[in-house]
Amino acid sequence: MDKYFRSGKGEIALLKVKMKSIHRGVITLACIVLIIVLTACSSTPGTDGNDKVRITATTGMIADVAREVGGAYVEVTGLMGPGVDPHLYKASQGDIRKLEQAQVIFYNGLHLEGKMTDILEKMSKSKLVTAVAEKIPVEELHSGQATGGTAYDPHVWFNVKHWMRATEAVRDTLMEADPDHAEQYKAQAEAYLGKLEALDAEVREKIGQIPEASRVLVTAHDAFGYFGQAYGIKVMGLQGISTAAEYGAKDVSELRDYLVENRIKAVFIESSVPAKAMEAIIAGAAEKGHTVSIGGELFSDAMGAEGTEEGTYIGMVRHNVDTIAAALK
Ligand SMILES: [Zn+2]
Repeated sequence: MDKYFRSGKGEIALLKVKMKSIHRGVITLACIVLIIVLTACSSTPGTDGNDKVRITATTGMIADVAREVGGAYVEVTGLMGPGVDPHLYKASQGDIRKLEQAQVIFYNGLHLEGKMTDILEKMSKSKLVTAVAEKIPVEELHSGQATGGTAYDPHVWFNVKHWMRATEAVRDTLMEADPDHAEQYKAQAEAYLGKLEALDAEVREKIGQIPEASRVLVTAHDAFGYFGQAYGIKVMGLQGISTAAEYGAKDVSELRDYLVENRIKAVFIESSVPAKAMEAIIAGAAEKGHTVSIGGELFSDAMGAEGTEEGTYIGMVRHNVDTIAAALK
């Protein structure tokens, strides 16, 4: 630099030009930084009317809770539609994209989405990921039959009180993701929790109307353990806690004999599990002179079609309870 000052006018002019271009460079850099900051701010969820928190949820039941609690401030994408079995579900390329694009991910956990564990764990390193069933205190969980790596029974949504805990977990996560609307999430969760409280009482009352000796729920897989314990109905499933576990001839004959000995009138099929296993049991009972009918189809691990009553969590529980009560009364 020194030599510029010692030199003639020409060099001083050159120095001025250089200083100007440095100055311009600094201004350009400042502008770029400002643009980046502004862009980042505008993608903060909920700062303007159009920008919603992008949520991806695994099961329909969880997506429903996220919509109830998030309301107008969220945009929810569910991965598993009606009739889909979460135990066997593998994430497609499209699903991975939906998980990557989400700001918040909700899943059940407790190994329900057994084949998605790795991808969900990977996502949790870069964004808010909440396993809603894992927010329930472990002392309130049932241990599974240790099949398919299942330490705890993941079907917590069938005890409505447990699902209230899951709702609180969704609320807390959204309040963290989007603090600007914390009060709204609180209020929306409160309203939904009130509906769930009423649903819990309704289920208790309807199951209570079934004569005690008939209070036996036989299904294809053991999805109703929490339901049975919470509402006082004995539950038997042909398959274990996960549909990933195989069932054998012994399971079929044991369940058949139980139905015959206890004069059980009806068994239930599930929307997300093929019906053929239960049909084999009905045929077996018939050979022994006992008629068992199909009491109806229950929604176990997936909800009904979108846009129908059963396409919501509350609607699916109500459908199940009404179906069970009608068949066993
Ligand atoms: Zn299941």
